[in-house]
Amino acid sequence: ESQLNPNYSFENFLEGDSNRLARSAGLAVAAKPGGTSFNPLLIFGNVGLGKTHLAHAIGVDIKDKYPEKTVLYISAEKFTQQYIEAVKKNNRNDFIHFYQIIDVLIIDDVQFLSGKSGTQDVFFHIFNHLHQNGKQVVLTSDKAPVDMQDIEQRLLSRFKWGLSAELQNPDFETRVSILKNKLYRDGVIMPDEIIDYIAKNIKSNVRELEGAIISLIAQSSFNKKEVTLDLARVIVEKFVKNTKREVSIDYIQKVVSDYFQMDVETLQSKTRKRHIVQARQLAMFFAKKFTKASLASIGSQIGKRDHATVLHACKTVDNLSSTDKQFKKYVEDITKKLSV
Ligand code: ADP
Ligand code: MG
Repeated sequence: ESQLNPNYSFENFLEGDSNRLARSAGLAVAAKPGGTSFNPLLIFGNVGLGKTHLAHAIGVDIKDKYPEKTVLYISAEKFTQQYIEAVKKNNRNDFIHFYQIIDVLIIDDVQFLSGKSGTQDVFFHIFNHLHQNGKQVVLTSDKAPVDMQDIEQRLLSRFKWGLSAELQNPDFETRVSILKNKLYRDGVIMPDEIIDYIAKNIKSNVRELEGAIISLIAQSSFNKKEVTLDLARVIVEKFVKNTKREVSIDYIQKVVSDYFQMDVETLQSKTRKRHIVQARQLAMFFAKKFTKASLASIGSQIGKRDHATVLHACKTVDNLSSTDKQFKKYVEDITKKLSV
């Protein structure tokens, strides 16, 4: 069995500017699995933006067009568990062989392989075999390859061989059409005013967008409440409150420089003075921790550094906070300031 969910089809995946590249590349791969330069096809983006849906859609479409092909969808987590089991039972070679005869291998959430060197190693060999034999590999991840941590370089370089396509936050029109499509499929009618309200207020997660509509439908049908704008407000608030407020990188730099009684320009400057370097590294560390920005984007906003500098800063802060009491206190104090 392929583990594919037929409801996650291309038909049900609404197109918008935010997903056009990934969706089109998915369709191209499904039309000619292994026969395009999109191999691997890596789809990346934040949680709830449709990576799993799109990964299934590719598999479902291939199965439809090429019933004789073996297509396998698996999460990286399950793949890892299977591998650990296989090693325990002395079946490592069977495990590898099983994966090497698949025509289309779809692995969801490959960021899960971070730090798991045994699984990365076996996946590297499977990947090479499939790729050399013209088989298709599709991967998803919550980060772009450049931002992935603790993944072996040789594997990262393979990830970049094909196409990396990002799923971005859907724009307002796309959010409205996703909601309307969902309502249409469920046979529910809802005033445009309410659909617009939800689409305006839930911006960065399609799963939450759908969740709000599902709650609204449930409230109206089970509790016999009328679907009003007030009810929509109450429900939307639950979703918006649950999503953590994101602090900006500017704000982080301000808080860190205030804490060390310097100004932001000093924090960003090229100086190598130790206390300034440390303040800068802390700002980078907190930007990584509290925002969704990529390493590259953090670097460019904090004194035009590159992503390697930011990565180094994060590691340094991690190390220092476990070895240096004073430094640990800095981290705790600033965390408190940023969390209120
Ligand atoms: P991810 O794997 O990126 O966290 P999912 O694929 O699980 O996200 O998507 C979350 C929900 O949003 C799913 O129910 C999915 O069907 C829906 N969804 C996401 N993008 C779209 C889209 N463009 N059109 C329709 N539904 C979508
Ligand atoms: Mg997913």
